[in-house]
Amino acid sequence: MVTEPNHGYSRLSSFNSYKNQAEHKKLESLAFILNSHKNQAERKKLESLAFILNRQGYRLVGNHSAVKTCGWTRNRLLHKRPCYKSKFYGIESHRCIQMTPSVSWCQHRCVFCWRPVEHTIGPDITVELDEPGFIVEESIKSQRKLLSGYWGEKDRVSRQEMEEAYNPKHAAISLAGEPTTYPYIDELIKEFHKRDMTTFLVTNGQNPERLDGVKPTQLYLSLIAYDKDLYKKINNPMLKDGWERLNESIEIFSDSRSRKVVRITLVRGYNLENPGKFKDTILNADPDFIEPKGYVHVGYSRKRLERSDMPSFDEVMEFSRILCNETGYEIISHSKDSKVALLSKNPPSLENYLF
Ligand code: SF4
Repeated sequence: MVTEPNHGYSRLSSFNSYKNQAEHKKLESLAFILNSHKNQAERKKLESLAFILNRQGYRLVGNHSAVKTCGWTRNRLLHKRPCYKSKFYGIESHRCIQMTPSVSWCQHRCVFCWRPVEHTIGPDITVELDEPGFIVEESIKSQRKLLSGYWGEKDRVSRQEMEEAYNPKHAAISLAGEPTTYPYIDELIKEFHKRDMTTFLVTNGQNPERLDGVKPTQLYLSLIAYDKDLYKKINNPMLKDGWERLNESIEIFSDSRSRKVVRITLVRGYNLENPGKFKDTILNADPDFIEPKGYVHVGYSRKRLERSDMPSFDEVMEFSRILCNETGYEIISHSKDSKVALLSKNPPSLENYLF
């Protein structure tokens, strides 16, 4: 059941300075989010978060979702440089929607996260839930609005590319927050598939009960820690049983019928130094692919980590070589720009996996 927002502008008197339509549109969804929050503290948090998101180019969708143009979508349109997932999995970066159905709800506050995790509302979505179909439709509309400025780049972006970008073929469900916090995540994925779109779902493994039902084209599990102490230090969990939930998810993940990828974000002084210690976790998760990827010193992570905590590409490759020796996986590709390697269980040629 999707309800029309009741535009509580009155609560937003300080916003009256915004005259143009676009700002009003954004504030409309902001107003609705605020109105549905009786809890003062939470409303305060959301107010500041929504401004941060606004400034960062997020477009809020309904009560709890958001879309944001990925830097690589921009790079692909303007400079013909796609993201590493284009090389690894055949993604068309200019036809990709980067979105989330849970913009400010997550169970982790990872030290390396570029998002403003300090403003995370909580581990459960506390506003009225939107329908999956509504979220998908509005996300596509928002993507088109976000990309509308590129029509003006006639010298660099062809009409055909813009028409393709306006008809997205892929949804990266990973923008912010934890997507599986949205209870209808499986229906949301089906709605994208109904529109002949592929889906990548990235999860932190904190909602194992929801992981069981989902079937995205590709399922990413973020595995950053090999034991409970490191988990507490690097993922900074909000839930007491976070480590147990993650391990339950690893089991469910290993049986998933989607293509399974484990993403290991590498941070110096945390997990970069011990590739061998990931052996058991990896073998239990049994992924088709592993992506060891170097932490990048950007966004809000700069408040928590130093530039020197970023591994170099060579260190990522060395970590990957040792992990392969331990697990029997093989390095089949890499991207120096994105400081990431692609490890495969039994190295098929990538053609078998490209869309
Ligand atoms: S797949 Fe990810 S990196 Fe590539 S364009 Fe989409 S959101 Fe960006």
